[in-house]
Amino acid sequence: LGPGEPCGSARDFAVRMSSRDEIRRGERTVDAGAADDARVRFIGEIRTPWPDRDACPRQGSYDGPECRLVVAPIWHPALEGLEANEKIEVLYWLDRSRRDLVAQSPGNDGRTVGTFALRSPNRPNPIGTSLVRLVGIKDGVVTVRGLDCVDGTPLLDIKPHRCPHGGKAG
Ligand code: SAM
Repeated sequence: LGPGEPCGSARDFAVRMSSRDEIRRGERTVDAGAADDARVRFIGEIRTPWPDRDACPRQGSYDGPECRLVVAPIWHPALEGLEANEKIEVLYWLDRSRRDLVAQSPGNDGRTVGTFALRSPNRPNPIGTSLVRLVGIKDGVVTVRGLDCVDGTPLLDIKPHRCPHGGKAG
């Protein structure tokens, strides 16, 4: 999915299904209808070293590899001032996710828990968020450490990290 392409409507979800989408013991789905109503716009794409979901870390870490947020040219002016932040939040669209699971078995051991009790990529609106360390910004490319997504994952938003107690982010 490219910048500006409406998520969920232009491409068939089935095309992105993989063996990771198989239902495990104890998991439950609902018939939530076609997930074609979101109208967020992608602002770019994320380049990472990980070609598929199996290769990704479960959560990113600040000492992870450098990843690049390649922002679409029309949004380059929106990056002004971002460089002042040591930590930033990145929101992205986990485009290879199932969107119909209400209960999941993360360990595939029959123990299930509700989707909203997990940070699983499989959720009705598969938005991923990561707090990352800003390495640098050049020519509309924001280099960060701390991501956990597949190479080419669509980028939704970038925000400065707001420290919970109003202080400077550590
Ligand atoms: N840090 C984000 C969060 O907490 O919202 C995402 C956490 S999720 C557990 C990270 C996992 O999602 C990765 O280990 C990988 O298996 C999977 N993943 C990464 N990129 C994806 C994508 N584009 N579509 C679907 N799943 C993805």
